[in-house]
Amino acid sequence: MKASAFSYIKPSTVQETLALLAAHGEEAKLLSGGQSLMPALNLRLSAPEWLIDIGGLDDLRGISVSDGVLRIGAITRHVELLRSSEVADNAPLLAQAMAHVAHPAIRNKGTLGGNLAHADPASEMPACMVALDAVLVARNAKRERRIPATEFFTGVYETVLAPDEMLVAVEVPVAEVGQVHYFHEYCRRSGDYAIVGLAASAVVEGDRFADLRLGFFAVGDRPLLANAARELIGRPVDAAALAAAQAALEAELDPQEDQQASALMRRHMARQLLALCVATLLRRPDLEIRRSA
Ligand SMILES: Cc1cc2nc3c(=O)[nH]c(=O)nc-3n(C[C@H](O)[C@H](O)[C@H](O)COP(=O)(O)OP(=O)(O)OC[C@H]3O[C@@H](n4cnc5c(N)ncnc54)[C@H](O)[C@@H]3O)c2cc1C
Repeated sequence: MKASAFSYIKPSTVQETLALLAAHGEEAKLLSGGQSLMPALNLRLSAPEWLIDIGGLDDLRGISVSDGVLRIGAITRHVELLRSSEVADNAPLLAQAMAHVAHPAIRNKGTLGGNLAHADPASEMPACMVALDAVLVARNAKRERRIPATEFFTGVYETVLAPDEMLVAVEVPVAEVGQVHYFHEYCRRSGDYAIVGLAASAVVEGDRFADLRLGFFAVGDRPLLANAARELIGRPVDAAALAAAQAALEAELDPQEDQQASALMRRHMARQLLALCVATLLRRPDLEIRRSA
């Protein structure tokens, strides 16, 4: 199939883009890396009247660190993030997870802003942003607003962005000394979307977690910051504590059934990932045996 007819425009400034969105936002789509939008257009899952190409907005490209914040421009490509020493040093979870996003050809074109705005619940980056307590910066012609990642995703392919808004950047707190992370996803083949995945960030003090943020993905209609972490913070973690956390997690999951896995299988995988994560971060291989609980 081919895309429906549309008007193509390539603004050269952010202000021009925001003016276009103010005038045509309801009937327009922003084109960033095109790796999700182009297939959707060609399958006629999306048929905008206007395609606004933001690929030339160099103000929205780049990675910087300042005042304890790693700032990544919205049109920074996946490959740039993967190769960035600023990202590797200050948000190593992102670097590790990005290696699991699609394949090199797609990472060469796909952008962080496009990935987050697309809001696929099986996508790695949204869960990382939730785990890292990131802030997404959105702008329209009148104002800028800063949206915690935990509030940004509202459903399958849905976010709080209004039709006249665009993502301009993502801000991630620089990893503290002692902060550790965990990332793992189950998928059929390397580069596929996850069947179930977990991106976690933690501070470990001795035999316990001083902090633990668990960002699960592909377990519901949006990334999940699991409250189950509360069962594990500030106390020695033994098999009983882990079982309590797995039970709490169970109540938070709302997995879909699809051709890849049943909801039951996804629940099992999420519980297993929690055990593996805890065992890895606390260096307690004995806890892995709880993975089938
Ligand atoms: C074969 C294949 C495998 C893939 N595997 C994975 C995977 O394993 N994990 C994964 O996470 N992704 C995967 N992807 C998707 C890929 O990461 C995309 O690049 C990404 O989801 C969208 O980024 P983009 O820059 O290409 O956005 P586009 O396709 O250009 O846009 C996507 C959506 O976001 C909107 N948008 C774009 N930029 C902005 C902005 N700045 N502000 C507001 N809205 C905006 C667009 O209007 C559109 O609705 C895969 C894609 C393909 C084709």
